[in-house]
Amino acid sequence: MGMNTFDHPDTDHELVQWRHDPATGLNAFIAIHDRSLGPAIGGCRILPYSSREAALQDVLRLSRGMTFKCAIAGIPYGGGKAVIIAEPSRDKTTALLHAMGRFVDDLNGKYITSFDSGTTLADVRTIGEVTPHVGGIADGFDNASQSTAEGVFTCMAAGWRHLTGADLAGASVAIQGMGQVGRRLAALLYQAGARLILSDVDPLACDGIDGEIVAPERIHNADVDIFAPCALGGVLSRETIPEISARLICGGANNQLAATGDAERIRDRGILYCPDYLANAGGIIELHYQRGGGDRAALHRHLASLADTLQHVIDEAQESGATTAAVADAIAMRRIGAARL
Ligand code: NAD
Repeated sequence: MGMNTFDHPDTDHELVQWRHDPATGLNAFIAIHDRSLGPAIGGCRILPYSSREAALQDVLRLSRGMTFKCAIAGIPYGGGKAVIIAEPSRDKTTALLHAMGRFVDDLNGKYITSFDSGTTLADVRTIGEVTPHVGGIADGFDNASQSTAEGVFTCMAAGWRHLTGADLAGASVAIQGMGQVGRRLAALLYQAGARLILSDVDPLACDGIDGEIVAPERIHNADVDIFAPCALGGVLSRETIPEISARLICGGANNQLAATGDAERIRDRGILYCPDYLANAGGIIELHYQRGGGDRAALHRHLASLADTLQHVIDEAQESGATTAAVADAIAMRRIGAARL
């Protein structure tokens, strides 16, 4: 079994550890980016990464993103993340998850884990059998995707209201990815009277949802009012941005911007971009309320307040000429900086 703290050229992280446990097959990283606002929180991802370096890059990037997400969401947590290098459908055993739980437990609460790609609510409960430092498994709650979808919907409604003065009834929305978040967002939009254009690489994923289905490569340039990326990261790129006809981009996917300069490209085309970690903060906000006793009314008030945060970001961006992404980063950094004083 090995455990190291890494000196990696790309990190401004507080702590990065690797654990190899031959008995269970665990090969995992935990990264803690920043704890100025509170203990680091973030899900545990299980993916068959092509290399240890690829897993390390992912955990560094994702944990850093969690710091910004918690700060913009106004919850008292820092950013952390865990990744296990494994094929979830084949390698995920109770022994492996318990080994991961012991890894989390050894950090004595500096890092709180939860679900992510490749882990389910049941998996997090299994991890929680060996450590109290898990989030999102309170009785009576599901896997937080409903809150994520509600947060996206709230931001979308606020962004659309800002652009048009209208609500979402009659607006057309292209949703990329009909998974946990995309499906729930589609249901909320359907209830609100929006017209839906859907796409998923899995042909069965759009079943049972009322909307026009288009091929995956056609979803970003669908002729719609709003584009909602709810699948992969990096979908807003030098190649795709010129083809987007939507006036608003607001979706649940993490890391939607492919590269530096993409936020400027979006702004320069006159498209309003809701920063991804603001739009999709609902899930982590729910984890905070679950850990605090499960006050659902307070959770829903907090989710609704994402609309005010987005309006604040838009106002600051309009005043300064900066992109909404840069303004959200600056607000998050101010909050983190203030907590350090
Ligand atoms: P998911 O795996 O349940 O769903 C993703 C869907 O996207 C799948 O149905 C998949 O087939 C589809 N997909 C993959 N590539 C595609 C492509 N090129 N075109 C169209 N569809 C494609 O994942 P999820 O939990 O719904 O999360 C979606 C995104 O939101 C991810 O980026 C995730 O990191 C982010 N996110 C999720 C939550 C949450 O609460 N679940 C919270 C915050 C952020």
